[in-house]
Amino acid sequence: MKLAVFDLDGVLSTGEIFSKDTTRAILNGEKENLDRWKSFMTKKGVPCVAVTGRSLEITRELLGYMDALSVCEHGTMIVDPKTGREYHIAEGDDHFRNLTGAKNRLEEFIHHAGQHDEFLGAKFDGAELTRMRDNLHILTYEFNSPDGEAFARSLYSEVVKFMSPELRSDLDDGRLVAKTCDMALDIIPGVSKKDGLIHILGELGVATKDVIILGDSYHSDGEMMKGVPDGIWICPGNADKRLKRAVSSRGERGYVAEKPFFEGAMEGLEYFLGSSSPSQS
Ligand SMILES: [Mg+2]
Repeated sequence: MKLAVFDLDGVLSTGEIFSKDTTRAILNGEKENLDRWKSFMTKKGVPCVAVTGRSLEITRELLGYMDALSVCEHGTMIVDPKTGREYHIAEGDDHFRNLTGAKNRLEEFIHHAGQHDEFLGAKFDGAELTRMRDNLHILTYEFNSPDGEAFARSLYSEVVKFMSPELRSDLDDGRLVAKTCDMALDIIPGVSKKDGLIHILGELGVATKDVIILGDSYHSDGEMMKGVPDGIWICPGNADKRLKRAVSSRGERGYVAEKPFFEGAMEGLEYFLGSSSPSQS
């Protein structure tokens, strides 16, 4: 294999997610595992990249472990951890050039989004609503509500009320998209982790059949993995049931680990790359 692609949270972390607290060390308690994984991959001679929904700011330390062009913010931001070069996919990929206006309007909205926090906090009192302030390119609210994804949709209908007609038509026309899940609402340019993955494979000149890819969520990772239809797919034991079904249906090109999280990722990598033999391709 020529490249290993990693979703980060729930795959290389010891639990559901890596820390998002920028005031403390994000890698607290994770370093030992990450060092073990990195030395394994180095021995196997397979370079590693990340494709994550996390914001660039809270992913920088993790990107330090990557060998080549990686993707943050749901496909929006492309980062070269070796050179430090960072660019928005709308600016670095002709295919997404048409999103530039929407990207700029969204970033402007994010810049001033703080002025709506008090209103939204009061409106959704009790839901622990938090706007992620480290996000400069995507708008993210996290919450804790028994209504789950339905809550995200009600929040979305309030947030759009603050938007200009141009921004609303960006959303209507798909130049921006709202992603909802049971703990967050993201408003992002109309790209996905799959788009980011295809972009970096093109830049790196790696064929999809030479990719080993790991993820745990159904919607974003399941879709992303389809970007390497003839690659090897791995999911740890904590993965979404629907993703596990998709991975196990691939026969010898897929592996569903017994163990969850980091140990499950290692289990899958060892299954395909061998546990202790020096190197194979
Ligand atoms: Mg994940």
